Amino acid sequence: MSAPDPRMRWWGWGVDRDATALPEKARGMLRQAFSIEGQPSPPVGLDDVELPDAALPGEVSDRLASIVGAEAVRQDRLARVSHALGKSYPDLIRIRAGDASSAPDAVVYPASHDEVMAILELCSAERVAVTPFGGGSSVVGGVEPRRDGFAAAISLDLAPMDRLIGSDPVSLTATFEPGCTGPRVEELLGHEGLTLGHFPQSWEYATLGGFVATRSAGRASTGYGRIDELVLGVRLATPAGTIALPPLPATAAGPGMRGLVVGSEGALGVITEATLAVRPAPAVKLNEGWVFESWQAGCEAFRAMEQAGDAADICRLSDEAETALNAAASGHDAPGPCLAVVGWEGQEAGVARRAERTRAHLAGAGARPLGEDAGARAGRNYFAGPYLRDELLGMGVLVETLETATTWSRLQALYTGVGDALRSALGARGTDPLVMCHVSHLYRSGASLYFSFFARQERGAELEQWHAAKTAACDAILAHGGTITHHHAIGRDHAAWMDQEVGELGVEAIRALKQKLDPAGIMNPGKLLP
Ligand SMILES: Cc1cc2nc3c(=O)[nH]c(=O)nc-3n(C[C@H](O)[C@H](O)[C@H](O)COP(=O)(O)OP(=O)(O)OC[C@H]3O[C@@H](n4cnc5c(N)ncnc54)[C@H](O)[C@@H]3O)c2cc1C
Repeated sequence: MSAPDPRMRWWGWGVDRDATALPEKARGMLRQAFSIEGQPSPPVGLDDVELPDAALPGEVSDRLASIVGAEAVRQDRLARVSHALGKSYPDLIRIRAGDASSAPDAVVYPASHDEVMAILELCSAERVAVTPFGGGSSVVGGVEPRRDGFAAAISLDLAPMDRLIGSDPVSLTATFEPGCTGPRVEELLGHEGLTLGHFPQSWEYATLGGFVATRSAGRASTGYGRIDELVLGVRLATPAGTIALPPLPATAAGPGMRGLVVGSEGALGVITEATLAVRPAPAVKLNEGWVFESWQAGCEAFRAMEQAGDAADICRLSDEAETALNAAASGHDAPGPCLAVVGWEGQEAGVARRAERTRAHLAGAGARPLGEDAGARAGRNYFAGPYLRDELLGMGVLVETLETATTWSRLQALYTGVGDALRSALGARGTDPLVMCHVSHLYRSGASLYFSFFARQERGAELEQWHAAKTAACDAILAHGGTITHHHAIGRDHAAWMDQEVGELGVEAIRALKQKLDPAGIMNPGKLLP
């Protein structure tokens, strides 16, 4: 099996062909807001990236090659640099500046569960750290290899494992290998008239294994359910053996092994197969924009709508700051204070019936309809955001996102607390940030909040500036009863808050499980656990 080239640009998002530029109006607004002058700074060239010498002993490299084939063990510059980091703000700051100090010693591309098992056995014996790599879109430091205390580190890229193993149209389930990207999943299911309905913003490059390993949520997850709600069965290759959990609609057999595998972030083993609940492909997809006079009014309307069972599949409400900036970024005037986007997917009659019920709630709460164009525009811009981030980084703008969730009764305090923490942490360093937020997923008991913040980059201290803001926001999230992450996962960046999230005994219990499945501790060291 030959190894594919990296799917994304090593220094940023996606591929050059799809890059979108920020409209002049938004660029001007940000340059003025943050007093940014001068020319944008591009990333360093690939040849100028600092890369440590590969430390994989030749004998181990030969044995890896005997498992997967010589062409599926890559040690060239492009492969190693592309697997050094994920796509978080600090990752991109580092890689654009030419810091690939965390690059793996080799990138290995297994083609089957058995090959993964053989690799884990070899790496356990030789004390080689293994970091599973799906799309590499982690924004929490989840794919950065760690070499400390190990003889070497490899990145295990699951790209060759991208088959639909089988589907069951009667039960509406489908079993995939982990390396299928979002589009590949939909392409394979499309042949059978089915959909997974899972569309995170990273969908074009993130993989099914990555979704399951991080408990991701997609744009329409209020309707379809998060990935963890869709996983029915899963197979995990661990250094201690295989855990195979067959697809079941429900089970009362103990505390739920599926739940331990889902969200394990490569720290327990490699997900080599997952069976998910799928649905008939929708005949109709309808999006609409609505505008609320205030954020609080919008949140209250969303709560009532969700609790009455009338929420749309997509439910998103932007606060005043986000509404204004998104309008500028798409070259339009803001439609009003707070933009809501709602969307329904399914068969025609069902969509029409459900849309009427949602609309009645929105109109009853005083929202004004903007029609389908506003909804469609928001959908079109959804996948452009990550490219704009690359441009902003080059301009000298700190741009970062973080997400949380809490119960409805605590939502406003959490919203205010996190916003204040970000403003005060960045303000104390002499930069006034722009902080904005949207509600992205609804539950009967609460909702998730997704914050984006922008500030002038502190040149030369970009990582310290980011760290101060991130720490303040995470502390505020926990102080206000939020979860440290609603869908980005723990990775490296949230590990320090894991004991507050699940308790010290909870952390020890996960550690004991890891010790059982991964006695040599080779699986994705430094992630998930503090
Ligand atoms: C621009 C952008 C937008 C994003 N939007 C969203 C969003 O809307 N919703 C959302 O939930 N997340 C989002 N994310 C975060 C990220 O895309 C998700 O966490 C995604 O699920 C990661 O998938 P991946 O295939 O890229 O995994 P990777 O980044 O490659 O890996 C993520 C973690 O999972 C582990 N892993 C990967 N594959 C396996 C496997 N087969 N077995 C075991 N462990 C594995 C890795 O070791 C790592 O710890 C976004 C990220 C970016 C950069």
